[in-house]
Amino acid sequence: MSLGARNWQPSGDLPQRIGGPSTLSMPDEWTFSTPWRRAQEETDHGGPVNDAERMVRLSDGSGVHRVTWALRGRSLVAECDCSGHKYNDGWCAHVASLWWQWVRGQVVVTHLDTGREYPQPPAWLRLDDTPDRIDFDQLSPAELDAYLTCDEAGVGVRRYARQSGRSPGTVGNLLRRARDKIEEGRQ
Ligand SMILES: [Zn+2]
Repeated sequence: MSLGARNWQPSGDLPQRIGGPSTLSMPDEWTFSTPWRRAQEETDHGGPVNDAERMVRLSDGSGVHRVTWALRGRSLVAECDCSGHKYNDGWCAHVASLWWQWVRGQVVVTHLDTGREYPQPPAWLRLDDTPDRIDFDQLSPAELDAYLTCDEAGVGVRRYARQSGRSPGTVGNLLRRARDKIEEGRQ
């Protein structure tokens, strides 16, 4: 069993539609769009369904929507069942509301590969990451967690070792294996 995911079990009712990292990106002038205005003005009375999904119920009475909202690889999977999700580059009011809540520390987002929970968007997050640029599937949860935290977010090895309860030598080995696998995947 991998250390990084020892406390995490996949939910039994994860939807099949989680295929890979989203290519969601921040739209230009997003602060002026209607979904973003609604996201900031309305209160969400929904809640989590499982590690990957939340129900969003905005206070403007526009109904309840099921939103896939989770981290995968180094990106965010964000998909809503509403009709507006197809527009605004995927930033419907429900997705925008969850982002607005997340940056203010009001929701926790789970990384599906590592099991780590993020109370705020992590420094390594790339909203516009190309799904297949790096094949993270070949990394173990512990290798991916170390790679994202140290190599992508720039956290020092010793600090990460303290936080994760591993020895610096173990973290060094995880990083070396992660880098080797990523390098092999590029060839
Ligand atoms: Zn929506």
